[in-house]
Amino acid sequence: MRLLTYTTGNGARAGLAIGDQIADLAAAGYGDVLSFLQDGDKAIEAAQKLAANPGQTINRSDATLLAPILVPPKFICIGLNYRDHAIESGMAIPTLPTVFTKYHNAVTGDGQPIELPAVSDQVDYEAEFAFVIGKTGKNIPADKWQEHVFGYTIVHDVSARDYQLATSQWTIGKTFDTFGPLGPELVSKDEIADPHNLRISLELNGQVLQDSNTSQLIFKIPYLIEYLSKVMTLVPGDVISTGTPPGVGFARKPPIFMKAGDEAVIKIDGIGELRNPVIAAP
Ligand code: ZN
Repeated sequence: MRLLTYTTGNGARAGLAIGDQIADLAAAGYGDVLSFLQDGDKAIEAAQKLAANPGQTINRSDATLLAPILVPPKFICIGLNYRDHAIESGMAIPTLPTVFTKYHNAVTGDGQPIELPAVSDQVDYEAEFAFVIGKTGKNIPADKWQEHVFGYTIVHDVSARDYQLATSQWTIGKTFDTFGPLGPELVSKDEIADPHNLRISLELNGQVLQDSNTSQLIFKIPYLIEYLSKVMTLVPGDVISTGTPPGVGFARKPPIFMKAGDEAVIKIDGIGELRNPVIAAP
């Protein structure tokens, strides 16, 4: 199933994508995707019933999409998780995951603008594959990872390099408002045969600047779940973005940074396309 959050003008609603239609998950008892995830198998059964008999639906083109999870309990990002990206960044190949965060002020949805802050002139793009937790757990063994993952989505880890790299702590450069486009949909794990073999690409104004495959991840989902859950309890709705492949703008010669009027599109096989215009922050 493919979950989304949308509005037709009077507040955010949770929806089930059925082709080019959206069925309102309120009909299954859920007003938002987070409460859906928190209800576990019961919610999945209710959504399956709704999919079989959706009743009244709306055209997707009549809705504005928002991020599938508007306020993730945690928004965790992994840095330097593709070997070639670590090399292009001038960093050592990591032996442990580099972990940083975004806060929910950064979250935005498909089609919504990425706002360039006036204080940075080095705003870079990063295509990322993300997994979303569906079941609470602490000290989760790597081989139990599938029990705890609900599904997958796309993250654009927008990064102000001047802020990110000014100190050893990256978070400040990663969590400006709108720096975390997420979506368009949250795709349940049963729809993806192998999350570690998905083509991932990013186009800026139609030019392909990143093109890789999640098979190249250094730290894969089982490892990341075990590692992170030794530290923190993972809960439904936590978004864990797995890092970006090579081709980012600041490592290019000459560098490429995003500017007002650009459009960034991230594509991941089986997950979808996350498309965001770039504007100057109002
Ligand atoms: Zn990243």
